[in-house]
Amino acid sequence: MRILVIGAGLSGVTTAWFLQSRGHQVCLLDRQPEVANETSFANGGLLHASHAEPWNAPGVLWQLLRWVGREDSPLLLRPAALPGLMRWGLGFLRYSRPRHYRRSMRHNAALALYSLDVMRTLRRELGLRYDDRQNGILKIFRDTAAMQTAVDNSNQMAEVGLRHTVLQPRQAVALEPALDDCAHELSGAIYYPDDESGDPHLFSRALIEHFRRIGGEVRLETTVSGLQRSGDRLTGVATDHGLLSADRYVLAAGSYSVALAKTAGLRLPIYPVKGYSLTAELPDWRGAPAIPLIDDGNKVVMGMLGHRLRMAGTAEFNGYDRSLGQARSAYVLRQCLKTFPSLGERLGLEQTTPWCGLRPMTMDGPPILGQSRLHDLFLNCGAGHLGWTFACGSGKLVADLVDGSEPALDAGAYSAARF
Ligand SMILES: Cc1cc2nc3c(=O)[nH]c(=O)nc-3n(C[C@H](O)[C@H](O)[C@H](O)COP(=O)(O)OP(=O)(O)OC[C@H]3O[C@@H](n4cnc5c(N)ncnc54)[C@H](O)[C@@H]3O)c2cc1C
Repeated sequence: MRILVIGAGLSGVTTAWFLQSRGHQVCLLDRQPEVANETSFANGGLLHASHAEPWNAPGVLWQLLRWVGREDSPLLLRPAALPGLMRWGLGFLRYSRPRHYRRSMRHNAALALYSLDVMRTLRRELGLRYDDRQNGILKIFRDTAAMQTAVDNSNQMAEVGLRHTVLQPRQAVALEPALDDCAHELSGAIYYPDDESGDPHLFSRALIEHFRRIGGEVRLETTVSGLQRSGDRLTGVATDHGLLSADRYVLAAGSYSVALAKTAGLRLPIYPVKGYSLTAELPDWRGAPAIPLIDDGNKVVMGMLGHRLRMAGTAEFNGYDRSLGQARSAYVLRQCLKTFPSLGERLGLEQTTPWCGLRPMTMDGPPILGQSRLHDLFLNCGAGHLGWTFACGSGKLVADLVDGSEPALDAGAYSAARF
């Protein structure tokens, strides 16, 4: 089959790879001059099945209200964004009921664990290198109640295979000596041995080389303006280089999938949630965590990618605004350095490269994968805060559904028909 994949972020690149490697003729297109140049460029770098909880935990409404308009909060809801957020926001709250939340968490965890498995196989088979590390992830807590909630969630996710060990503060320091400075503040930690980390941009570039080598076509600097529909089929994709057609189409345009799907009369419940990262050269690793770290209370993640320290966090609900706010970058840096004060003595904002991206967030948490209401249009979008973790699993699952193979997971859980 001739297959057109729209969007060369992590979701599109992996889907294109799995389809091409099965003998289809795939064309991957993107408006950027390079693959993985938008949200997949400089994210937190964590492949964290341990972090599979959706963001709409029961009680989220009160937290959101507490943080409305506050620049110094991990979750920033700009009042101007409220009108455009209503429909999605109501769904986000509806799915925060405990029953829905637990179900979404399990589906996310199952996909994340599957994805890590697929990633390991791919890395081995293709010899991929992307500043990857396989030394687990450590989640630290300063609040006993928050830690208990995380332990409960991890126990539930253990039912689908998530391994974890609960640690006392001194055990956490023994595992990660860089925590020594803040050990007295910690209430404990959870270690997830199977999680990994790596640079999503390097990964995408490496995989796309293999994709090209086996005959895949990449068309960059090509912007899609709309999908052309006739009845329950797509007849083509309108681009600034003319109309392109294929036997099957995969929409993987991140947060922008919403507007493109709309041109074919489809509604996708995805909202762009902005986040920031900062990257600093750290050749000697001094004072930085050797194990990638999730700081639950300060809502930031940190980890080494080769000789670079990547720090990321914050969630901002402000539509499609992609401006890089210095106050928010400074906030992320401050939150990260609370745990590593000695690092703070030599790391200011001017030593870092700031970046921001839009997480394509569904209103219930899991991504939207598989066939749409249109016969020949498939979706791989809405991975939210887990798009790097899900990339290989989602790419393979969507490839299975496009070419009629039996997927390893229950695909219904991720289908657009669930809304
Ligand atoms: C600060 C931050 C930290 C994060 N940390 C992590 C993490 O540690 N672990 C994790 O698992 N996930 C993380 N994520 C989430 C992850 O980065 C995203 O879920 C993932 O990158 C989404 O990939 P995607 O391919 O779906 O979308 P994108 O990467 O946005 O790709 C979509 C592509 O479509 C293209 N496109 C859009 N519209 C058009 C058009 N009209 N025509 C042509 N091309 C188009 C874009 O150019 C883009 O390349 C983080 C996100 C952020 C913002």
